[in-house]
Amino acid sequence: MIGRFAPSPTGPLHFGSLLAALGSYCQAKSEGGRWLVRIEDLDKPREMTGAADDILRTLENFGFEWDGEVVYQSQRSSFYQNALSQLQTKSLIYSCDCSRKEIADSYNHRPPQHGIDGLIYPGTCRHKIAVKTPHASRVIVNAEGITFNDAIQGKIQQNLAYDVGDFVLQRADGLCAYQLAVIVDDIEQGITHVLRGADLLDSTPRQIYLQQLLGQPAPQYAHIPVASNAAHEKLSKQTLAPAIHTAHASTMLTQALNFLGQQPPKDLSNHSANDILQWAKQHWDITKIAKQRSIVLS
Ligand SMILES: [Zn+2]
Repeated sequence: MIGRFAPSPTGPLHFGSLLAALGSYCQAKSEGGRWLVRIEDLDKPREMTGAADDILRTLENFGFEWDGEVVYQSQRSSFYQNALSQLQTKSLIYSCDCSRKEIADSYNHRPPQHGIDGLIYPGTCRHKIAVKTPHASRVIVNAEGITFNDAIQGKIQQNLAYDVGDFVLQRADGLCAYQLAVIVDDIEQGITHVLRGADLLDSTPRQIYLQQLLGQPAPQYAHIPVASNAAHEKLSKQTLAPAIHTAHASTMLTQALNFLGQQPPKDLSNHSANDILQWAKQHWDITKIAKQRSIVLS
């Protein structure tokens, strides 16, 4: 069993990301598995200087120990290019030079179709002979439907043709899209279990589809509820989630265990972070996690 925690270095570790760290750690360690850390730093403009080191230091101070070297997505473009070439060889991707406006306009007089992640791309460039440079690369989807059984959220179904459309794997600026990078890394690192926030549930079928195209098995997915504020916004850097501090490690870890339904004993927060993690991996029970996409933090 190999799990992973894959934060983006857009800011310091906050309660929302602590939940994913703790959940994925307990899932792997409760079964004697390995737990890897990967820094998802592909999107350099969104990165905050020093955040990656800050996140790693906070994890250490909270008692987490990862296996192997920390992997940085920014250093792995050869893996992503290799996957793109494989898909190219199978004629599964094509170049697209559409701007956002052109995509909206391509619906002509019909109302634009909104899917689960913005406008559904209508396939304009699938058969275009000449595309302008710079251009993105899109993968061809089909209407066969993707179904998977999430360990927390249950059966999830999606039809990529109707819900998403052909989606981008490489952006016009050359950056590998998240959907491709995350599955290439999961495959290359041998990840068997992915536990992360339910805000990524809707993109999982795209990732399973890419795994299928590359002839690789999907890991088992588990999507925990995200912590949201009173306005039902996910806690993130954008919603000004407060950073968590080492001085409060025991309190924060106990709160996170409660959020994940693990019902730690009342006095656990009086113990050290290491003791709390010991308790957490010994008592980990994924079936106690609420089958909800988000929970408002009280
Ligand atoms: Zn296009």
